[in-house]
Amino acid sequence: MLSWVQKRDTSENRTRLETPLQGPKQRCWFVWDPLGIIFAMATWALVLSAAWILVRDLLIPSNNIFYATANGVVFHLLASLALVSHLKSMLTDPGSVPLGNPPGPDTVLYCPLCLSAIPENADHCTVCRRCIRKNDHHCPWVNNCVGEDNQKYFLLFTLYIWLISTHVLLLLSIPVLRSHAQGEQNASSTVYPPKPIFFLLLVALMGFILALVMFCSQMCAIYRDKTTIEMLYQNKHSRGRRSMWANMKAICGPRVSLTWLSPFHAPERYKVSENHGMA
Ligand SMILES: [Zn+2]
Ligand SMILES: [Zn+2]
Repeated sequence: MLSWVQKRDTSENRTRLETPLQGPKQRCWFVWDPLGIIFAMATWALVLSAAWILVRDLLIPSNNIFYATANGVVFHLLASLALVSHLKSMLTDPGSVPLGNPPGPDTVLYCPLCLSAIPENADHCTVCRRCIRKNDHHCPWVNNCVGEDNQKYFLLFTLYIWLISTHVLLLLSIPVLRSHAQGEQNASSTVYPPKPIFFLLLVALMGFILALVMFCSQMCAIYRDKTTIEMLYQNKHSRGRRSMWANMKAICGPRVSLTWLSPFHAPERYKVSENHGMA
């Protein structure tokens, strides 16, 4: 699909390749993919319905104002962060190469579909119909590619979904375990949860497993300095000189702070030198 047009392998250009092209960003980014839009809407519907069932069928019936308020606040705070991260993942340009991008010092490949000269770490996405820099994969849940400019938001999305799923699973399982421990139920007794609670359990289990798998695969890709696509296809090529710490800074920002956990904060572009990236 991609044609090799030129390759400059000087150390100067290798260093420059670590720095993303600063092309003009699109103000509005949205992928018009029907399947992706359905998946993205389903994500919101599942989180909002879980929040509604949690409050209506679990927290309010507890008749414990402190228990209900504390858990309600924690869940809704984390769920809000998850949904904002989802929106930012979906509506942020993941690092698209401009259509018809002319050859330059940073470009080493040519995409005949975009008619663009592209950097070495860019890949064409057939859903977004664009070449994306450091394209990790196209995720239907956020209806967008995960690239160098929105990977922080995607990481936070998976992290907060995993946290709210774990929270719900704990809220559902602790009372059952406690009643078993107090001898109120024995091993032969059968408990049938109401349908809404059963639905909440299924949603929490699905969120827990999917988010954990996506978060771990992202962290594994960051650790190995490869994209998920490169790991799946056993791509031997690797930029390979950056440590995991340098990769985290490239994704989340140059200074470690609470802003790493905030989907409201856009990461500053981190310029990685070869020396800095040595593990
Ligand atoms: Zn392309
Ligand atoms: Zn894509």
